[in-house]
Amino acid sequence: MPSLIERLLPDYDEALDLDGFSGRRLASRLSAIAEIGLTAEDGSGRPGYSPAEKKAKDLVCDWMRDAGLAVRRDAAGNCFGRRAGRSDHLPVVLCGSHIDTVPNGGHFDGVLGVLLALETAEMWKATGFEPERPYEIVIFSEEEGSSFNVGCVGSSAIVGAPLIEQLGGVSDHNGRSFSSAVEQVGLSLADFPAARRDLSQIAAFVEVHIEQGLVLEGHGLPVGIVSGICGLVSLEMTVTGQAGHAGTTPMAYRRDALVAASRIVAAVSELPGQVSDTAVATVGQLNVSPNGSNVVPGRVRFSVDIRDVAAEPLERLVARIVETATRLASTAGVTLSWTRTFSQPPIAVDEKLKAQQAEAMRAVNLAAFELPSGAGHDAMVMGEHVPMAMFFVRSKDGISHNPREFSSLNDCATAAHALSRFLTRLVTNTD
Ligand SMILES: [Zn+2]
Repeated sequence: MPSLIERLLPDYDEALDLDGFSGRRLASRLSAIAEIGLTAEDGSGRPGYSPAEKKAKDLVCDWMRDAGLAVRRDAAGNCFGRRAGRSDHLPVVLCGSHIDTVPNGGHFDGVLGVLLALETAEMWKATGFEPERPYEIVIFSEEEGSSFNVGCVGSSAIVGAPLIEQLGGVSDHNGRSFSSAVEQVGLSLADFPAARRDLSQIAAFVEVHIEQGLVLEGHGLPVGIVSGICGLVSLEMTVTGQAGHAGTTPMAYRRDALVAASRIVAAVSELPGQVSDTAVATVGQLNVSPNGSNVVPGRVRFSVDIRDVAAEPLERLVARIVETATRLASTAGVTLSWTRTFSQPPIAVDEKLKAQQAEAMRAVNLAAFELPSGAGHDAMVMGEHVPMAMFFVRSKDGISHNPREFSSLNDCATAAHALSRFLTRLVTNTD
């Protein structure tokens, strides 16, 4: 397999090397980070708070120093590179993402957002631009939650989320505590609360991330504006019928829980489109009991994952799914019980920032196309507390969390230009 830089450079359009942006610099940096924790299948393996994640952070910190930024690491291991503003007392514009990955993940998820935040600082340095406000790049710790099943740890520490108080009781499936993992990279869990920042001193948080889906590719667009981060409601439904012998129970006498559940599963896939263009619903887990090949299923328990970008249609869809499931169960002569196991409200993108993003996109000859984020990101945590904006970059074939994850260097460069336009405006406009 050729290295990442060898895959990125051949198709690159050097006309994009303008305003201080360098495609070769970005490609070589993406490639250098990909080498840290490179897996046998050519993926990235940098779990949060692992030595590999720390090594990648240290390398980016070196680059940030070279770009003339003041570098510091906080008590939760988040790294910052600060460019002072002419009015340095003003609230800061913060831009970045994460650098940890899922096991055998891709080379763009998170990393691209960190490196594009750095490209803007490089472009300002090259063109002699001086920001009015201070600007900070952030590398958040442990976004994926791949070892301990708790994600967005670094951003949660910055906003002082209750999650941070709960980490003392967290361990991985090998019994290793979260606390001992962070000690391995020179941190102490007891110090994490000190990472909390005065949020009134953050003017905006901006994140660029790969889309991890097919929407931009389907529209033939390199970059999009995130319209909002989807809320999520998880339900657990249980259909109870009557187990029986597969040979001796006549069809007319059956109360087959799986047949009823399958009608509900089919309905769940049809209902989102009736509620909104952006809603999605998924049944991803099914437990059949007794689960024997010669037994009529007596009970089926299954998950329903429901998402949308606005709260009202999301709740309307949840209600409709429950109503439909109840009706289908009753028609099939089985009983249905359900519980809501998780709720995360949608996070809105700041409308004023979104309008400024659209202007930045048009200024670099891009359509100001909007799409929702179905996945959570550090921007979701930050967006609960400070004005937040996100850009998505086209993902080849929508593949992510996989070594085959890829975004072309032209797309990454196009995003760099839209981002730097947007950030230049944010650090200039001080009202
Ligand atoms: Zn990510």
